[in-house]
This record gives sequence, C-alpha cells and structure tokens, in this order.
Amino acid sequence: MNMTLLHPTPFSDDRSNPHVHVAAGGSAYDNTREVLSQINLAAAVKGKRVLLKPNAGRIATAESGITTNPQVVAAAIDVFLEAEASVAVGESPITGVKTMEAFEATGIASVARERNCPLIDMDARQPVHVLVEDGVAIQSLEVCPEVVEYDVVVSIPVMKTHMHTVVTLAVKNMKGCLWRRTKVDLHMLPQIEDMDDKTLNIAIADMSSVLRPHLSIIDGTTGMEGMGPSAGQAKKLDLVVAGLDPFAVDAVACSLMGLNAEDVPHLRICAERGYGVIDISRIQVNPDMWHDFISPFEPPPDNLSIQFPGITLLDENSCSACQSTVLMLLKRHRKQVLDSFPGQENVTIAIGKGHQSVPRGTLCIGNCTAQHKKQGVFVAGCPPVATQILEMISESNPEESPDVQIE
Ligand code: SF4
Repeated sequence: MNMTLLHPTPFSDDRSNPHVHVAAGGSAYDNTREVLSQINLAAAVKGKRVLLKPNAGRIATAESGITTNPQVVAAAIDVFLEAEASVAVGESPITGVKTMEAFEATGIASVARERNCPLIDMDARQPVHVLVEDGVAIQSLEVCPEVVEYDVVVSIPVMKTHMHTVVTLAVKNMKGCLWRRTKVDLHMLPQIEDMDDKTLNIAIADMSSVLRPHLSIIDGTTGMEGMGPSAGQAKKLDLVVAGLDPFAVDAVACSLMGLNAEDVPHLRICAERGYGVIDISRIQVNPDMWHDFISPFEPPPDNLSIQFPGITLLDENSCSACQSTVLMLLKRHRKQVLDSFPGQENVTIAIGKGHQSVPRGTLCIGNCTAQHKKQGVFVAGCPPVATQILEMISESNPEESPDVQIE
C-alpha cells in the first residue's frame, strides 16, 4: 500500500527483507555509481521525472561534512540521464540561507550546469497543504510543490550526527522538503503528555508517514561527528550507502557510524509504526564484508557546558538554525562572550521556545526567547547572526566592549 503523498514507487523490493548496498574506497563519484548499479533503476525510471534532494541547506563545502558532496549528486544525475529519465535537483534550505547561493557554495550548481540539469529553489512557489492522517504530533504539513509533482524523489543526505535527533540521514533529510520556515515548526511543538519521546522526533516520524523518498543515497564521503548537523568535526569515510527502503538505509548507515538505529528515536518510532525495517538482521546488506567499513562516530554531546567551559547553554526546543548560530559563536568567540559579562563566572545562554523561566542575567538568543528579555540581554532574530549577538552584548557592557572581529 502506498500511503505517502508521493507518487507510487516504480521500484520493486522485498519490503520485509529490504536490500541495502554499500560501496567504499573509490571516489565519491565511483562509489555512487557502484551502489546505484546494484539497483535495477533503468527500466523503472525511463521517461520519469526524477527529483534529487541533496543536503544543500547551508552555505558550506563538501569537505566540511555539512553538505552533500557534488560528485555524489553528479553520479546520480548521470545514472538517471543514462536511464532516460529527466532529472532536477531541488532544495529548501534552513532559515536565512538562499537556495541558489547554497547550491553554488556546495559545488552542486557547477556539476548540475555541466549536465544541463535544472536547479530548483523549492521555496519559490506556493506550498501544497497536506493532511497527516497518522500524525500524533502534527496533523498537517506545508510541502514544497515539486515533491508531489515529480515521479521519483531521491533523498541524498550526508552521514551526520545531530544534536537533537542523534543522526540526520535519508529519513530526516526529507524535512528539507517542508516549505520555507514551516520546517522550523517541528522544533517548536510542546512536549506531548505521557510520551517520553521528544516531540520533534515524533513529528519527524509523522512527517515520514507522508514524505518518504523512493530511493535513498547516503553520502559518507565526508560525514560529520559530534556536534552535528553543522558544528561538529568532519569525518572522512569515503563510502556511499543506497537502497529503496529509507529506514533500512538509515539503519545500515547507523551501524556504519557505530550506532544502533533502535537508539535513534525517530527511526525507532517509524519502525514501530511499520513504515520500514531497521532490524539489521532483516536487511540484506551488500557486500557481505560491509562490517569492515564500520568507523564509529563521536556521538553528539549531552552536555554542551562541558564542551564550552564557563558557558551554560539552556536549549529547550530550539531549531538547528539557532543552534548553529550559538555553536559557531562559542567555537569562534567564546572568550569575547565571557569577557562581555565581567564578574560572572559562568554565562548562561538560552535558545528555543520551551523555557518556563531563565536565570537572571541570561543571554537570550532568538525571537523564541523574547518573553524572557527582561531577565538579561536579548538578541532578536530568527535566527540572529553572530555579529548581532556580539554587538548586542558589547552594547550592554560598554566599558567592557570586546574588540570584535567577525568573519
Ligand atoms: S528564534 Fe531560533 S529557535 Fe526560534 S524559530 Fe527562530 S531560529 Fe528557531
């Protein structure tokens, strides 16, 4: 049964024993071609319209481990063109990032242009309103229109850990198909009574009931460990994973990262609901010696205060846009932040919408913390950028203004 809003899949696979393919050691381009050669694509996609959805949600290069390697996208374009499909690449980036600028920065624009492959700003048109009948945390979504128009949707994320969702892989990458700022809404939902899981993870599972890729290609050329999705360390693996069941593909990717998919809440919830298979013993992984490619990732830290001595970060239901701002701020300018609060041994920073209260003197970052603005220093924005934060804290402490150098 096809319960998603996407077109019915043109591919066939054993849903109870899905196949997942891993290729390692070659170039990003060759590894991608290798895994796709294992899937019988040609007959299924001839004459179809294929939408590739990489992670080009930020201004970053592939070497950073933040965005999808352009050679993985190039190989996918070539394979689909050779199969006589028409191909486009689409993205709806995080708040504050312009789609075409991100495509240029990642190198995806260049490989697409070389192949006369259209690039789509999926935020440009009006969204499609979709009911989520299975929804526990959400009952509707606003989806970029291309997602429902194309015959085949391919999720092409980077292999990364994530501060809020443990990992971000093929299933979660589909969140980049939610229209403009509506993707932020999933981070803003209140905790559901009597449920232990964070509402964000339940909402991602809800989204997966309607928004599920037909094919998933995970770029493990350079992934990200630790404070993903944007402030961790790049991790070179030189591998690519692909398959038709996005949950099985994610589960194998988790294993390659030294993680158990059962410990990733949104994947566990999806499997419990029967959306796909994450039990490795039920997945046919090719080649047999794929375990040789396992390279454990540093998990995301539980406590950011340990990562940044002198800083206590209170994060309640923020989204990754504010998280990234704060993590980059602390990575590059922690001393300036500390110097701006003279006499305080510890600086408390709050982000996100879920705070009942914050301690006096807190640096409240982002519009979501506006109700606590009288408690300390408030920086408006959604998200604000580091320059705004540094300017605001230096204005609040004129005698101690840091010599701010912002890149
Ligand atoms: S203020 Fe920050 S946490 Fe709140 S919606 Fe905007 S980016 Fe997300």
